[in-house]
Formats: sequence, structure tokens, C-alpha cells
Amino acid sequence: MKHDVLEPRFVKAVPCDLEPGVLYVSMQYGTVVHSCCCGCGFEVVTPLTPTDWRLTFDGESVSLWPSVGSWNLPCQSHYVIENNRVREALQWSTARIEAERTRDGQVKAKFYARQAAIEAIDAPVIAPVPPCPEVRPTGLLAKVRRWIF
Ligand SMILES: [Zn+2]
Repeated sequence: MKHDVLEPRFVKAVPCDLEPGVLYVSMQYGTVVHSCCCGCGFEVVTPLTPTDWRLTFDGESVSLWPSVGSWNLPCQSHYVIENNRVREALQWSTARIEAERTRDGQVKAKFYARQAAIEAIDAPVIAPVPPCPEVRPTGLLAKVRRWIF
């Protein structure tokens, strides 16, 4: 790894030109972006969602979990970011990468199906408003009016 330590930088928006060795954290967009730690210069995006990565900030350093596997990049880098340190991880076989993609897709499908079911339950039920009962005046004057008209 060319960069074995990352400096966390909390930003509103991630800049177009990434500074190597910096881990850009955008809470507004729920994402973490950095230039690949191998030094290849490719951008690595790790979205923060319930089914993707989780970021831990202890006030001084950040950790990102699970590991970062850049399977779509030529370098195929795989590493763990823990307390600002980059720890190289084992290379994965093509079969393992495919198995992980399948597992990830299943986890996402299950999570979002459950979310949709919860939202459907929580959705307000729009019931028809019952018609107001006819209120008829009952006084002597009303009786006289009904009798005349
Ligand atoms: Zn790389």
C-alpha cells in the first residue's frame, strides 16, 4: 500500500480532485470517498447505508467497515481502514467476489423489501369521511316553516 495512513476530512461535498491519503467523509451525502490506497489514483466510493459501509468516528480517528475491495479497478486492492490506518487484506478469488456480490444483492433486496413493508404498514389509511347526519331544526318556528313550505 502506498498510503497506509489516511487523514479523515469531514466535508460537505467531495472535491473533484482527490488528495491522496485523505479520506473524505460527507455526512450530508452519506458517503466516504478516497483515492485508492494502492496509489493507482482511482476514486473509491464507499456509500454509508444500512446495507453498505459503516463509519465509526471516535473523535480522533475513523474506521470503515466492512473492508474495501476494489474489484472493479485494475489494481483489485483489498484493505481495511481502522483508526485511520490502512491494513492490506488478502486478495479474493473471482468465485469469492461473485459469491459476495450475490450475498450483497440478497441482503439489499431483503432489507429494502422489509423497509417497503414497514412503510406500507405505517402509511395512513385514508377512509371515506362519513356524511354528516342531517340536522333538522326542531323548534316551533322550524315546524311552522316545514308545514308552510
Ligand atoms: Zn488501486
